[in-house]
Amino acid sequence: MLKTRGYATTGPRAKLGPFNFERREPGEHDVLIEILYCGVCHSDIHQARNEWGNSAYPMVPGHEIVGRVKRVGPAVTRFKEGDVAGIGCFVDSCRVCDNCKDGEEQYCENHTVATYNGTERDEKTPTYGGYSSQIVVDENYTLKVSPDLPLAEVAPLLCAGITTYSPLRHFNAGAGQRVGVVGLGGLGHMGVKLAASMGAEVTVFSTSKAKEEDAGKLGAHNFVVTREARNLAPLAAKFDFILDTVSAQHDLNIYLNLLRRDATMVLVGLPDKPAELQAFSLLANRRRLAGSSIGGIRETQEMLDYCAEKGITSDVEVIPIDRIEEAYERTVKGDVRYRFVIDMETL
Ligand SMILES: [Zn+2]
Ligand SMILES: [Zn+2]
Repeated sequence: MLKTRGYATTGPRAKLGPFNFERREPGEHDVLIEILYCGVCHSDIHQARNEWGNSAYPMVPGHEIVGRVKRVGPAVTRFKEGDVAGIGCFVDSCRVCDNCKDGEEQYCENHTVATYNGTERDEKTPTYGGYSSQIVVDENYTLKVSPDLPLAEVAPLLCAGITTYSPLRHFNAGAGQRVGVVGLGGLGHMGVKLAASMGAEVTVFSTSKAKEEDAGKLGAHNFVVTREARNLAPLAAKFDFILDTVSAQHDLNIYLNLLRRDATMVLVGLPDKPAELQAFSLLANRRRLAGSSIGGIRETQEMLDYCAEKGITSDVEVIPIDRIEEAYERTVKGDVRYRFVIDMETL
């Protein structure tokens, strides 16, 4: 077994602190990655604090991982020592169900192995995430990362990037379309960059007027402050696609009303309480409300290659790991532009 250093929490109200544990020796198809950077996703906080009610402790969070390959198993063909590699929100799945066969492993019908706060395929061995010195993952669940990009800024692509890229692609958002992005946080800022890069006319909906200048810099064409309903009225039935990235409770109906006929709004944020939906909002214009969860391995690789080609990365604030509690507090308050990333050298 490989002695590994990490940062863990032991309960919903505990603080994160140093934690030593063991990773498996790389098996035939495994890649051992020395972790360089790990993004701080809002879902790390939800899970560390058991806000979704499914937390297991001790927990080493982190699923936006970029690192360097240290060693590979004898059957590994796609990676070699020294390569830059990424790990996202899951590290394995059943591989035989229809969804896995279709490359949509995040929707595995049997067991998607979450990168942390999950169990391996044996459904017993806990998984530990990226707030750690190294990780061992099957090469089929490991992503190739271009060494040309600033790696700290690449880390958030592994969750925030693919979470927004996948629905934009699936619903064919792009040139000539009006795309709305609701919320300008970790997810929203990636949604804006990606939608703009695909040629869409992007409108940001935010409660915070203070983010208007940023929205423009990220590539948005329009900015609407949503606190005032009168700002939304002229936009009724004007949008081809809306990406709703908000993780707090909010009114979906006011955004659904902005969709034109047969257009779709996709939820990618995860509020902890159910939303109220008015049937009127959907029936008018035959609108659709959908959800989307991260993306499969194939699509995640496609997203990373796309971002490398277009020079798209996340806007980040790099922190030493001993400032993780402060980073959590500021993330909850929305006080980060737009993602904290831990420099794992500080572990
Ligand atoms: Zn995440
Ligand atoms: Zn499966």
